[in-house]
Amino acid sequence: MSEKTILVAGGGGFIGGHLVARLLQDGHKIRSVDIKPISDWYQVHDGIENVVADLKDHTACQAACQGVDDVYNLAADMGGMGFIENNKALCMLSVLINTHLLQAAVDNSAKRFFYASSACVYNADKQVDEDVVALKEEDAYPAMPEDGYGWEKLFSERMCRHFREDYGLRTRVARFHNVYGPDGTWDGGREKAPAAICRKIINAVETGETEIEIWGDGKQTRSFMYIDDCIHGILAIMDSDILEPINLGSDELTTINGLVDMVEEIAGVKFQHNHNLSAPKGVNGRNSDNSLIQKHLDWAPGIRLRDGMQKTYDWIRGEYLKKKEKQTA
Ligand code: NAD
Repeated sequence: MSEKTILVAGGGGFIGGHLVARLLQDGHKIRSVDIKPISDWYQVHDGIENVVADLKDHTACQAACQGVDDVYNLAADMGGMGFIENNKALCMLSVLINTHLLQAAVDNSAKRFFYASSACVYNADKQVDEDVVALKEEDAYPAMPEDGYGWEKLFSERMCRHFREDYGLRTRVARFHNVYGPDGTWDGGREKAPAAICRKIINAVETGETEIEIWGDGKQTRSFMYIDDCIHGILAIMDSDILEPINLGSDELTTINGLVDMVEEIAGVKFQHNHNLSAPKGVNGRNSDNSLIQKHLDWAPGIRLRDGMQKTYDWIRGEYLKKKEKQTA
């Protein structure tokens, strides 16, 4: 593979941090940009350009795209259901990041542009049953996505399409379905279900509690993709000729209750489950139909949920204990 200069927008975040690690391994020159102070980045890599900037700003995007061949846009104001249901305007403001980045990519003659979309673009009517029919790419239209966050993703997908059609920028779009793994958000209100469940169980073990809270009735179904599978898929999609947004997710379906049972088994405990029916829980059922990505890229998730959750649990436990040690020091 020839060396490229690559911008990773959102490089201080979960997926961005892992992507930078992989691109660095592949021998590329990287500029990683994030709005957070570097001390808050999940991974800080040496030997690359690490920049703190707000990519909602036009000038910052122009500077970030200077001299780059490829852009990976993983920057967004986002979180789990608890965050996106209560911060719709903030989520929609991420449209500024993608808009200015697309324009800057064109202005600076970048060749390829990757956009991280989401399964939240899918029509809510297709996700009312826990007993799901997996979502195919065409199920995004007629449009009725997740309010706020999902609308921003759907609009930004179309921006990518029109920048490709009108300006010849090679845009590629993946619709991620719940990504999880180490080096991501595990507390603070933006965490997603796999990390939140690990943290609650670790906390109960460490504090001697015997009960944990579960959001919703726990019967809602989801699939979760381990981060290594996600990175592999991102690179394959970027290199492909797939012009339309494509699913990138696991199709190993579980209920949230099933996920809790799995983490309890990992931890070797069994707690009382208190279901909070007024907490945000998202759609009732969602799974990824992987026919298209399997057919075109021969991509399928390689890491079973049980194995990925073990790694995630171990990492979060380490972080939890480090934090506790700091608080008591
Ligand atoms: P993350 O929150 O860990 O990473 C996003 C990063 O973007 C953060 O570090 C944040 O500080 C940065 N950012 C936010 N606003 C910015 C700004 N104005 N300028 C510069 N940086 C800014 O989230 P993630 O899980 O790594 O998600 C990456 C992308 O994938 C996002 O676009 C997200 O919507 C999408 N996605 C993620 C999932 C998932 O399950 N993690 C699912 C679907 C889609």
